[in-house]
Amino acid sequence: MVSERMKGLGTARSVIRELFEYGKLRAAQVGAENVYDFSLGNPSVPAPSAVNETAVRLLREQPDQIHAYTSAQGDFEARQRFADSLNRRFGSNYTAGQFYLTVGAAASLCCVLNGLSCLEDEFIVFAPYFPEYKVFIEGAGAKMVLIPPEIEGFQIDFDAFERAVTPHTKGVLVNTPNNPSGVVYSRATLERLAAILTEKSARYGHPIYLISDEPYREIAYTGVEVPWIPHVYRDTVVCYSFSKSLSLPGERIGYVLVPQEVTDAGDVYAAVAGAGRSLGYVCAPSLFQQITSLCCDMTSDIRVYEENARLLVTSLREMGYQVVEPNGAFYLFPRTLEADDVAFCERAKSLDLLIVPGSGFGAPGHARISYCVQTDMIRRALPRFKALADSYK
Ligand code: PLP
Repeated sequence: MVSERMKGLGTARSVIRELFEYGKLRAAQVGAENVYDFSLGNPSVPAPSAVNETAVRLLREQPDQIHAYTSAQGDFEARQRFADSLNRRFGSNYTAGQFYLTVGAAASLCCVLNGLSCLEDEFIVFAPYFPEYKVFIEGAGAKMVLIPPEIEGFQIDFDAFERAVTPHTKGVLVNTPNNPSGVVYSRATLERLAAILTEKSARYGHPIYLISDEPYREIAYTGVEVPWIPHVYRDTVVCYSFSKSLSLPGERIGYVLVPQEVTDAGDVYAAVAGAGRSLGYVCAPSLFQQITSLCCDMTSDIRVYEENARLLVTSLREMGYQVVEPNGAFYLFPRTLEADDVAFCERAKSLDLLIVPGSGFGAPGHARISYCVQTDMIRRALPRFKALADSYK
């Protein structure tokens, strides 16, 4: 006998992964150059050369210690470097003791959710959302409450949100720049969210934490402001990752930041650390704690994502697709040309165009295009997007 929940999670592959696997099979049949795979969020630009150079230097200079366990919360100096970097950028006053290093944003979220969850707790999520949130929230024994998308701009439907907050609301998850919409929440959106959370926290007599999932924080297009959320709402816990900004998704490295201003910050931090312990994370990878903390002021060459976005948005609109302007990350979330997004993506698949139905992100009638791919592939895929549009005329 095994856990039915775990068995279910282990056998039901995510739609995204399934499509990605299909793409590989199809490439073997018709040639990789004839398959247009926009399924996965794997950065297409390499890590900065400084990352590899730092790795080589550390391996050469510290061969005895570099692979050792660190303390559970991460090496002190590495955490201090992360704090210093944010302090330089945001004028904050963070210290090493407020950082807990993790194996990426997924683990950061799991540590925070498990650390915060008590019986009957609810976490609010805004559609469209990263589908793993449901797995993480339910894994922490809590309930996910989903707010339908505000499809004109993919900001927040505040009426629906206000109705959804209850005495059981422990936290709210935000992800901006967003996967899958590519939208960045405006300062006005975040301020309104903060005002409601402040009012509801006072009304229900307990803090409602804002969990800011920020793997795309650095990937915002020219002139776009990505507000630093802890300065907008006091009870914000940050989940960060170097998977996207430094193109290191396979190295599994990120952090949780619990600023001291957060209500019961000491308890929250201890609970995050306890959750990390109970989940068996032990410590984040030692080598990459050092590398990322020494390289955290840089990013990969992320300009190409903006170039890809411009090319796709302009071309798709000319073909008749409706798409909300993205401001960051590397995703587009156009409306599908029929109400059934699964059928639409199947039709795209028959043209070897691999895009993901929006239903899995809580936004039926849309599809996700992940454009962290070579610009040349986008150019070559445009006739397929056109053929797809024409097939609905
Ligand atoms: N959150 C969002 C919104 C993501 O898109 C992803 C990965 O694609 C993650 C979290 C997980 O990232 P990580 O690789 O840091 O665990």
